[in-house]
Amino acid sequence: MPDYSVRLDGDDLIFSAAHFILLPDGICEPLHGHNYRVAVEIAGPLDDVHCVVDFIALGTVLKSILRELDHAVLLPRHSPVIRVKEDEGEVEVTFPPRRWIFPAVECRILPLAGTTVELMARYLAERLIAAVADAGFDPPTRLRVEVEESPGRRAICDVK
Ligand SMILES: [Zn+2]
Repeated sequence: MPDYSVRLDGDDLIFSAAHFILLPDGICEPLHGHNYRVAVEIAGPLDDVHCVVDFIALGTVLKSILRELDHAVLLPRHSPVIRVKEDEGEVEVTFPPRRWIFPAVECRILPLAGTTVELMARYLAERLIAAVADAGFDPPTRLRVEVEESPGRRAICDVK
């Protein structure tokens, strides 16, 4: 029995965002940005019309998720050391002795321990799994998300 998968990538699967992460020595990067590129592979059995998934529907869902992240500051809600507090339209981020204040509307506080490209790939994979279920498609047997933060530097997350 052959295995099937489909892959979405292209110049429209991008978002530009700011972030910073902790480096292994405990140093916190300065705030900076990336033009992220995303690719998705989804594997599963063929449906009644001999497709793994509706390409157009999947692309539409993925682009709407990427639009949420575009032109935003990405912050981790679950970092053990970077504190993120939202109050009265502002977000205060602290990593003593450093402190940043952002307009809340320009921040996306993500349910992650850090905004590494690896965890961003997992976040997108989990969002897509949920979106596929919401759209009534059968669950994929495997979903792979690749997130590239600069040319040649990408993380890959496989779920299932
Ligand atoms: Zn970075």
